[in-house]
Amino acid sequence: MKETLVLYPFPGMGHLVSMVELGKLFLTHGFAVAVITVSATYTTGAASSTETFITRMSSAHPFLSFHRLPSVSLPPNASPHHEAHAFDLLRLSNPHLLSLLSSLSQSSPVRALIVDFFCTIALDVAAELAIPSYIFFTSSAAILAAFLHLPALHSKVTTSFKDLGDSPLHFPGLPPIPARDMLLPMLDRDDEAYKGFIAIFNRMPDADGIIAIAGGLAVPGKKAPPVHCVGPLTAIQPKLRHDCLDWLDKQPKQSVVFLCFGSLGAFSAKQLHEIAIGLEKSQQKFLWVVRSPPNPVPSLAPGGGESAKLTEAPPEPELEALLPEGFLDRTGERGMVVKSWAPQAEVLRHGAVGGFVTHCGWNSVLEAIVGGVAMVAWPLYAEQRMNKVMLVEMGLAVEMRGYESGAVEAREVAERVKGVVEGEWGREVRGRMELLRLAAEAALADGGSSSVAVNDLVSIWKAGRR
Ligand code: UDP
Repeated sequence: MKETLVLYPFPGMGHLVSMVELGKLFLTHGFAVAVITVSATYTTGAASSTETFITRMSSAHPFLSFHRLPSVSLPPNASPHHEAHAFDLLRLSNPHLLSLLSSLSQSSPVRALIVDFFCTIALDVAAELAIPSYIFFTSSAAILAAFLHLPALHSKVTTSFKDLGDSPLHFPGLPPIPARDMLLPMLDRDDEAYKGFIAIFNRMPDADGIIAIAGGLAVPGKKAPPVHCVGPLTAIQPKLRHDCLDWLDKQPKQSVVFLCFGSLGAFSAKQLHEIAIGLEKSQQKFLWVVRSPPNPVPSLAPGGGESAKLTEAPPEPELEALLPEGFLDRTGERGMVVKSWAPQAEVLRHGAVGGFVTHCGWNSVLEAIVGGVAMVAWPLYAEQRMNKVMLVEMGLAVEMRGYESGAVEAREVAERVKGVVEGEWGREVRGRMELLRLAAEAALADGGSSSVAVNDLVSIWKAGRR
């Protein structure tokens, strides 16, 4: 009988996809992999993509199964940040997780519970069932180092990061990070989301290990758990070929800039307008994923609600109404607008793409590296501002000025888009990216660092160790 590894991702395509990629690494080592998701997803515009992804993955891999926990009623929570509501959702889902894990372990021994770092509260469940627990960290090594250090910083600083402006925060081994660029839901220390994150970072060292793309971490005042460095994990999603790939086939090498902002990124109608004018001015070839502007989601209001209602997929965007009059006709020769969702990982690997305007979600960054594409950083939510600081520091991205105020002007879009595809800077970055791409390939090859880390974990679990 196969032993089972249980994965517990945070809701949202970015987290789900990379966790499933992790699981696939272990399928080839004789484990069955069960993925347990809470009852809601936050994947705007992509709820159906999530379902399609799950259906296809489970039919492609007989030993990969998906299980959804029952929905729970969320208590009132005044935080404007969806993470605070997610923390409630995860806490209240623990009893359901406990009973599902208990029933799964009756049919096959559960060798480890691997939880997304957001779901660290599930370590309580693993402890109760005496199952080894691991945290899967879906962002960069630098961010992991900063997060593990944050409880120590929290106890020293008494002011909210939002009130510290540009003051540099110091984390061991990292360049200084301006306080205003900290994780968005952590800017206000009185917010429930801030408290939730500090609780997570405090708890992370209690896991039996962290699976990440990182090494050599220090946790002030605590023993750091072993860090198993896998990846980079990027996924080509098994889908029908998208029209935009046919369009890219017809474009010259590295001539197209791709604009796409993660599974949640959406702009106001005014900002969409401004981007459109900028793209038109730039005279560059572009492929742009456009979403409907965000609507306030009723169930995220302070009153709380059923967790299942957290999924409010916005309607498909009405391009003619959202974009400047005649834009689609005028740019039709050299640009393509895709509604809501494009097969990003494939797009970024396509030779016609030379630049990427990105929200700096970590999967997107890894996919850009694997594709050897230069980036323009337009961080929107979560830890993306911190990622931007690192990417700019490493010379892999330039910043889209004006992102902080949420009002990027058309001429800035035009300048950046032109620079990333045509400019000297763009060419240099693609050169640096090529070296990183080769390093990524080497890590994933037989005997590379990722394969070694996977083999180590497999031997630990097969020997029944932690
Ligand atoms: N993605 C995609 N098409 C889209 C938008 C997103 O395929 O139109 C994928 C993207 O390739 C990446 C994931 O969704 O794998 C987004 O993850 P990331 O960590 O970049 O951002 P998040 O969505 O977590 O903010």
